[in-house]
Amino acid sequence: MTDLSTDFTLEKRSTGAAIITWDCPGKSMNVLTRAAFSLFESLLDDCLADEAVQGIVITSGKADFAGGMDLNVLAQVAAEGGDDPAQATFDFIMNGHRILRKIERAGMDPKTLKGGKPIATVLPGTTMGIGYELALATHRIFAAPNPKAKIGLPEIMVGLFPGAGGTTRLVRKMGAMAASPYLLEGKTLSPDKAKNAGLVDEVSEDPLQAACDWVLSAPKIVKPWDERGYKMPGGAPYHPAGFMTYVGASAMVNGKTMGVYPAAKALLSAVYEGALVPFDTALKIEARYFTSILLHPSSSAMIRSLFINKGALEKGAVRPDAPDQTVRKLGVLGAGMMGAGIAYVAAKAGIDVVLLDQQQDAADRGKAYSEGLLDKAISRRRSTPEKKDALLALITATTDYDALKDCDLIVEAVFEDPSIKATVTKAVEAVVGPDTIFATNTSTLPISELAKASTRPDQYIGIHFFSPVDKMMLVEIIKGAETGDRAVAKALDFARQIRKTPIVVNDARFFYANRCIIPYLNEGIRMLAEGVSPALIENAAKLVGMPLGPLQLVDETSIDLGVKIAKATKAAMGDAYPDTAVDEVLFWMESEGRLGRKTKAGFFSYNEAGKRGLFWEGLADKYPLAAEQPALVDVQHRLLFVQALEAVRALEEGVLMDIREGDVGAILGWGFAPWSGGPLSWLDMLGTPYAAERANQLAETYGPRFASPGLLTEMASKSQRFYRRFDPAKAA
Ligand code: NAD
Repeated sequence: MTDLSTDFTLEKRSTGAAIITWDCPGKSMNVLTRAAFSLFESLLDDCLADEAVQGIVITSGKADFAGGMDLNVLAQVAAEGGDDPAQATFDFIMNGHRILRKIERAGMDPKTLKGGKPIATVLPGTTMGIGYELALATHRIFAAPNPKAKIGLPEIMVGLFPGAGGTTRLVRKMGAMAASPYLLEGKTLSPDKAKNAGLVDEVSEDPLQAACDWVLSAPKIVKPWDERGYKMPGGAPYHPAGFMTYVGASAMVNGKTMGVYPAAKALLSAVYEGALVPFDTALKIEARYFTSILLHPSSSAMIRSLFINKGALEKGAVRPDAPDQTVRKLGVLGAGMMGAGIAYVAAKAGIDVVLLDQQQDAADRGKAYSEGLLDKAISRRRSTPEKKDALLALITATTDYDALKDCDLIVEAVFEDPSIKATVTKAVEAVVGPDTIFATNTSTLPISELAKASTRPDQYIGIHFFSPVDKMMLVEIIKGAETGDRAVAKALDFARQIRKTPIVVNDARFFYANRCIIPYLNEGIRMLAEGVSPALIENAAKLVGMPLGPLQLVDETSIDLGVKIAKATKAAMGDAYPDTAVDEVLFWMESEGRLGRKTKAGFFSYNEAGKRGLFWEGLADKYPLAAEQPALVDVQHRLLFVQALEAVRALEEGVLMDIREGDVGAILGWGFAPWSGGPLSWLDMLGTPYAAERANQLAETYGPRFASPGLLTEMASKSQRFYRRFDPAKAA
């Protein structure tokens, strides 16, 4: 096979050290491709065969070492496997093990373990995934004291686990218990912390020199697990000490993942079974479990949504072709919960912010919110007093509209009232320049209607943040009927500056996210009114991967907000309003003064400190349990279908313009079962014929809200998949 990769280069120094430098041309971060890996092997072979080479150092030509495996490659391997994708995937993984094992054995005599050339890795900066797994196979890891660097194995976050020997090696290096935060939670560390934790061996101001010196003088390079009498740190699984680790880990993983993430389970199995056998067999076991995960529909859907498509959206996949719209000065109107959060994330990104409210003390309180967050960060050593001062200096709290004069973007977060929003829009337009873009953070009001208050509706747009702004990753950008491309580009460039993932949708009632999440909340409330056990409702939701059950989520967002939205929706829809059964519960809760967590009283009981306890006893009196309870899967299907069918309708109506946004937005915006890759991925996983049939069955039993939308029915008749029919690559 012709090898076209130039990702690795080799330099042999007269000292006897050979340096292999990883530097993918044209990329800001090294990622491993198949061609590059075979080039790497040929350079390694050259060094091992050359008598003049006494030691080898692997380093990077970039500020960072590596971002990991090119996940696009992992997605392709199985696809190219023809009749036997499992075998192709397994062979691909075992080939990786063979190369990394070659590093580890470094040419030593396999029987006596004598000889072999020391190999060290130099990590100038961030080192993730297979980058760190490669380093783990070498004999010593040197890192630069780069405070921005992150080192670790984040695979579990995208539905994988470290499958290039990282699982087997880390457990043998530090023991299962000590390795678990890095393997099971994907925890990454700065170089100093990585040294303390044992993930790297040395932190040095000149790590390349330190590594070159080391490889020329290393006394011993045999890995502990290759020596006779090796004992696993922390104890093997059949040892009383080790045994407890596995019992605990298994319970912890199932408690956290509810059993819906196959990668976490497979990882634990690979660790446990691998610990019972010699190293090379353990690698084979790891490879088998990794193959099963790569071929699992959940993993490929998670990689697609949480890595490939999330990255594409962040890089501007849906950005209109307009000149750079980087925000220099931001005006935020309303310094309440949302305005204060928006001011904080913008200042954190280095943007000048004017935070305006009606009263100076309200504006000051909004600014103080940033101070509170920064004080917390300082107490956790995530920030410094200097950084706090610098960030706060960027926020001007005021009541004076003139201060907004130079702002190139305004985000309005005043009360959810069209007339107040219209007043502030006019007041802003009277002072700002003609190019300023005006965005509203409304959660429910149609953008095209609000834009009527503006004399420049093409410069008027919705930027919908989620609460709490500093934690939630998604921003939903909403185009009104007249919103122009520059406004969309401005909103997207702002999202990039504040490091959020954007989706762009068209204007319609509740836009996209709230349109899907409200039916989820309502379905939970409906079931309660039907006499379904609230514990069954909440647990069914969690067991299918929703982070919060619907009743808990209503408590968190507050009952009175639900009542407000219900009243406004009913007023707008008139006789077509479908949620009277839900309103009965909501209005009754409100009349009982049970407004949710904020009043320490909701569907759940709370103690004085606000800690959530059991379900409120009054629920059982008002809504006694039905004699016959539904099957778990029926409750789960009601909760997921009610959201997924809404996503299909949003796509059908053109509110969603790109299925990637539908799936990424659902996971990041409201936590739609991340294992599924999002609602449209989930329907693909079920298969559209079954999904449409099941939706219609649910409609017969529970009501027309479940009826398969025309688009799904049509796709079902052709056995089409969303990720075929709406292939974003083809659309691009
Ligand atoms: P909030 O009540 O906490 O804050 C609103 C702020 O606006 C108050 O400080 C108020 O003094 C100020 N304000 C009111 N009228 C004003 C005027 N004429 N000029 C200047 N300031 C004025 O409300 P919030 O929760 O921050 O919500 C703000 C907006 O964001 C609403 O449109 C809401 O629908 C939307 N939103 C809220 C959430 C959420 O979870 N709370 C999520 C997304 C969007």
